[in-house]
Amino acid sequence: MRPKEISLNIRPIKQLDAASATHWNTPLRPDAFDLTDEEKIERIEKHVREIMLTLGLDLTDDSLDGTPKRVAKMYVKEVFSGLNPKNRPHARLFDNKYNYEEMLVEKDITFYSHCEHHLVPIYGRAHVAYFSNGKVIGLSKINRIVQYYARRPQVQERLTVQIGKELEMALGTEHVGVVIDANHMCVAMRGVGDTNSKTGTAYFSGKFKDENVKREFLNFINSK
Ligand SMILES: [Zn+2]
Repeated sequence: MRPKEISLNIRPIKQLDAASATHWNTPLRPDAFDLTDEEKIERIEKHVREIMLTLGLDLTDDSLDGTPKRVAKMYVKEVFSGLNPKNRPHARLFDNKYNYEEMLVEKDITFYSHCEHHLVPIYGRAHVAYFSNGKVIGLSKINRIVQYYARRPQVQERLTVQIGKELEMALGTEHVGVVIDANHMCVAMRGVGDTNSKTGTAYFSGKFKDENVKREFLNFINSK
């Protein structure tokens, strides 16, 4: 499946200043991690059971009886595991020995997330680029950072900014570009039922605000 061309008319997310830093943080309660994972699974299992019973499902059926527990484990340990800071990837940095001064691009990082308004999947691809400030990061770490923030209830705009900010922090550079194109199941399977539309978001900092640098990055993304 070949994606549509990503063009320069992607609407960049407004640069956030320090004062509005909370806007790109996931809204979490102060007691978000008072419960252990096991306690959360137990509690969520009860609620999923309640939802299924309310819908009229017979949970004594052997195909259904394990579902509440399965969903609870999947939420806590897998698809929403990126809420917990203990799962945040630690990025090991290496010296940029080769004096590589050009842009580094990693494109087509597949991710799976959930829309926080409907709790149904958002899936797509993230494309990330940066200029080194003397340090480089293992490429798999970029993937892990994308996955970590994807494994939360999300809006695509916030996901994009969170990945950009995390890379700036991890790499100690202010030159980061992130472009995401994604499919929202809440648009495809319900509501307007549009199965073809894709949503594009971008984050550009430092040198990436320069039109030529931006274009070079987008050309990389669109090259086969
Ligand atoms: Zn939604």
